[in-house]
Amino acid sequence: MEKLLYEKSRPNRIAHKIPQPDVKMANLQSSLPSKFLRKDLCKLPELSELEVVRHFVNLSQNNFSIDTGFYPLGSCTMKYNPKINDELARLDGFVNLHPYQPESQVQGALELMWHLQEYIKEIVGMDAVTLQPAAGAHGELTGLLVIKAFFEHKQDKKRKVVIVPDTAHGTNPATASLCSFDVVEIKSNEYGMVDIDSLKAVLNENVAAIMLTNPNTLGLFEEEINHIQSLVHQVGGLLYYDGANLNAIMGLVRPGDTGFDVCHLNLHKTFSTPHGGGGPGGCAVAVREHLASFLPKPMVKMDNGRYYLDYDMPQSIGKVKGYYGNFGILVRAYAYMLAYGGAGLTQVSRDAILNANYLKTLVRQYFDLAYDKTCMHEFVVSASKQKELGVNASQIAKRLLDFKVHSPTMYFPLVVHEALMIEPTETESKETLDSFAQILAKVNEEINTNPELVRSAPHNTPVAKIDEAMAARKLNLCYKD
Ligand SMILES: *Cc1c(COP(=O)(O)O)cnc(C)c1O
Repeated sequence: MEKLLYEKSRPNRIAHKIPQPDVKMANLQSSLPSKFLRKDLCKLPELSELEVVRHFVNLSQNNFSIDTGFYPLGSCTMKYNPKINDELARLDGFVNLHPYQPESQVQGALELMWHLQEYIKEIVGMDAVTLQPAAGAHGELTGLLVIKAFFEHKQDKKRKVVIVPDTAHGTNPATASLCSFDVVEIKSNEYGMVDIDSLKAVLNENVAAIMLTNPNTLGLFEEEINHIQSLVHQVGGLLYYDGANLNAIMGLVRPGDTGFDVCHLNLHKTFSTPHGGGGPGGCAVAVREHLASFLPKPMVKMDNGRYYLDYDMPQSIGKVKGYYGNFGILVRAYAYMLAYGGAGLTQVSRDAILNANYLKTLVRQYFDLAYDKTCMHEFVVSASKQKELGVNASQIAKRLLDFKVHSPTMYFPLVVHEALMIEPTETESKETLDSFAQILAKVNEEINTNPELVRSAPHNTPVAKIDEAMAARKLNLCYKD
């Protein structure tokens, strides 16, 4: 593959000349305090317009995305983002709104947010919703702050502990300690579920909450959820539902009905809004009635057909984000829900489960299943067998890139050695699943016949092996002269 060249600047090459202004220029040097002036501005590259366009278009074509290939990144629900979502979010009346416009002029936007809240309440079986947080982890922070405020209001000062299972996503314990809770981890049992005895051993009146993902990050539904919720509630603790895996249960089970008090929904997972890429994200946090008054303010409410922002919430934890959430993302999630409707969303979950189980039966011929059970929307295999032949999960993941598919999630959850966590989502066809299984079969064969080919992968990507730690910590982003 052609080596990418970044240092393309040539002296005096220009794309455009900015005309001389016909008004007097302000002298920023003298009007800004010198401490705000940078002395170390790097020189800008000098290029023609065509060179700039080619550079960025070529870079964009080196990106991997859901629009270019299969993306079975477990726990992330990398489903297709329907283009109609973007189309609607781009409507003039949405794009050109200003957050400081008076309520009377933004009735449509408020109405959309209100309906979105209502749909979410129905999907998760809860009583009140905020749309402010900007991502799942931000939703966790919001939810735990609400739980904290709830116990503070009750003057229950003992509640310092948040329980997380050993299969939890790293953001769960991180968020709990950010909210100054003590994190207590409990072991999973041999079936990959919360171990009831380990749970009982840590339950007491110091427990504020347990954070659970259901189905958990092994793609397994916590069968004892009713028992778990009654044990936690018996000691006065609350249940937090990490909704990252909601794609498996829409229309089938509601977190509220299984005893959860709070939940967050990553809109970029289940509800098909774009994942990151530096852009804005979105998350909804839903709570049961007893926690509603602590949600961030303002809340979007409706009275007699008029929509308004309710700031009159004396117990609220306050704002968690500027304005009212990332509105454009909310429009996309709403469009997705409207397009599918209730029955359609249920079918989404059924198809996600079907696709995962179909792929699992193909893949298990080559890779050992971590837990041999019917899975929900994702499953975890172990590459331990392959590691004995000298190739680890990370090297397998890199080899997959050569076949133009994204790698599964690796080394997570932590309870599985050499874990590869595979989530196909409902949006993929049988042909894509068959072809992915064939690629895994091929890589497995290579491990047996030519392991060095896999160890030295990737061979076909724009950049080959990188120093993963340094590439993330010492970014080279600046043009150098
Ligand atoms: C993705 C994920 C999170 C964090 O969500 P973000 O939106 O990435 O901040 C939390 N828990 C689980 C299980 C996840 O998969």
